[in-house]
Amino acid sequence: METRLAIGIFLLLCLAIAAVIFASIARKKNRNALAWGFLGFLGIFGFIGFVVLLIILLCLPTLCPRCKKSLTTHQWKIRLCPNCGLLGEQQEKSDA
Ligand SMILES: [Zn+2]
Repeated sequence: METRLAIGIFLLLCLAIAAVIFASIARKKNRNALAWGFLGFLGIFGFIGFVVLLIILLCLPTLCPRCKKSLTTHQWKIRLCPNCGLLGEQQEKSDA
């Protein structure tokens, strides 16, 4: 009985870690961290599903934080959206 409980806790921990990984990658790409974290948490996909989802997320383009349009890696690097123009630094402090 205790072994089953331990396995259950271990699996839950793995799912939680998967959720955190997905959420953090999604956040970096200005995507819905909650939705992707939830997808990562869904154990029904199994390990294969986890890998497939991870590849999909990594391949998705970063979204513009303002207009939510897809940006190329280069556009995101130089913080230039074809729609909104220059985006500025991500964590800009105005009280400098
Ligand atoms: Zn934009």
